[in-house]
Amino acid sequence: MVAMTDAKIPTEEELRERLTPLQFEVTQHAGTERAFSGEYWDNHDPGVYSCIVCGTPLFRSDAKFDSGTGWPSFWEAIDPAKVELIEDRSHFMRRTEARCATCGAHLGHVFNDGPQPTGDRFCMNSASLRLEPDSPADDAETPAEG
Ligand code: FE
Repeated sequence: MVAMTDAKIPTEEELRERLTPLQFEVTQHAGTERAFSGEYWDNHDPGVYSCIVCGTPLFRSDAKFDSGTGWPSFWEAIDPAKVELIEDRSHFMRRTEARCATCGAHLGHVFNDGPQPTGDRFCMNSASLRLEPDSPADDAETPAEG
C-alpha cells in the first residue's frame, strides 16, 4: 500500500505488538467493538481523535455528539480528505465504510441520519481512535499583567 503522506505506516508485526487484539481486529479486519463497550462512546473531554494506527488527526471533540448508539459519533471529520469512504455491501447491507485515508485502518461506517449542519453520522469504533486531550494551557487565560 502506498501512503499518500509521509506518515509512517507500521508493519503487521509492529501492529500486533502495539495494538490490543481488539484494536488489531477492528482496524485491520474491519471488526466492530460491542456497543457501549469502548473507551470513547461516553467521553466528553476536549481534544483530537487520531487514528490509532498512524496517528493522523481525524475528528475534533467539537464535532462529537451523543448518538445513543454506544459508539463514538461525529458529524464531521477534521479533513474530509483524511477519511476514505467506501461502499460496503457486507452482511447483506449497503453501507458506507470509513477508513483512515492515510493508512487504510478501518474506522467504522458513515450514515446520513446525523445532526445538522452536515447530517452525517460518522459511527466510529473507539478501538480505531486515540484521544489526544487538549492541554490545559490551551484554555488558560492570559495571565494578568503584574
Ligand atoms: Fe491511519
